[in-house]
Amino acid sequence: MELESILLPGIDSKRPLIIAGPCSAETEEQVITTAMQLASKGIKIFRAGIWKPRTKPGSFEGIGVEGLSWMQRVKKETGMYITTEVATPKHVEAALKAGMDMLWIGARTSANPFAVQEIADALQGVNIPVLIKNPVNPDLELWIGAMERINNAGVKKIAAIHRGFSSYDKKIYRNLPQWPIPIELRRRIPNLPIFCDPSHIGGKRELVSPLCQQAMDLGFDGLIVESHCNPDRAWSDAAQQITPDVLDYILSLLVIREKKQTTENLKELRKQIDECDNDLIEILSKRMRVSREIGTFKKEHEMAILQTERYTEILEKRGAQGALCGMSPEFIKKVFEAIHEESVRQQMEIYQ
Ligand code: PEP
Ligand code: MN
Repeated sequence: MELESILLPGIDSKRPLIIAGPCSAETEEQVITTAMQLASKGIKIFRAGIWKPRTKPGSFEGIGVEGLSWMQRVKKETGMYITTEVATPKHVEAALKAGMDMLWIGARTSANPFAVQEIADALQGVNIPVLIKNPVNPDLELWIGAMERINNAGVKKIAAIHRGFSSYDKKIYRNLPQWPIPIELRRRIPNLPIFCDPSHIGGKRELVSPLCQQAMDLGFDGLIVESHCNPDRAWSDAAQQITPDVLDYILSLLVIREKKQTTENLKELRKQIDECDNDLIEILSKRMRVSREIGTFKKEHEMAILQTERYTEILEKRGAQGALCGMSPEFIKKVFEAIHEESVRQQMEIYQ
């Protein structure tokens, strides 16, 4: 990919580059108040969603074009750069006409190559930075493909936003970070700036600070954080928004380590271990859920819980698989015995 710096005049190249603002533009007063407060903390790029992709109909789907003039007021009165999400060629046209300095493509859109291509066509000849969020599903190729489509349209100022990946199972995160994916993206396209969106990964205020630090420790270039003058009253994503004051405090606590040091240091590796363990727990809980479903099926069909043949087959196959991945068959056997024991215990609960 042929890339150019996304830095706008007056923006420092020092990590982290910050974009902040509410999830959605709600009212003129909310937009201006939030922007003034952020500007007073030195934030230079203001985000607000004008068109909102919501999971369910009936929730607030964005104020629409009316909000664009509020964003223009922000630019004029605070001197901040402004950015919003675009999901259709119409959005692109309206956003560019309103003088947006940057655009971003949301996670639901970047998962759809048709939609991305239409946006790319609408961006022909445009040279403002375009930030591309990861698709909702953990598919690095799809994410890179979306960036290539935009790049092929002649846009060279591209950055990625890591906002986590959706998962059906219970978790502490709203969207799983799955850090190995953005880490692999960095390896594949080393000169691509990567932002972290702790708000959509965490889904709750308490997680914003640790996620920002984790992103910095992993060498991310920037942060895009949802900030609202009155988070509890926000019309969308209330639980994850923080006040400009809190944002300023969180940023003041960030420890920015030299990239070189952190790639090798133990702390980062330990974080990766924590992440792997989180993944293991998540996958185990998914397996138990399936196992309980099997339990219900067996009960309905009056089958015995323990199906010895199947158990032996699992132990043998997994042992061989484990050996292929460089682990001892004894270790894999132990792990699967323990997993099987817990599955049986959970199925027995269903029989009671
Ligand atoms: C957003 O940034 O407000 C947004 C809708 O994010 P995502 O596309 O990551 O869900
Ligand atoms: Mn949001």
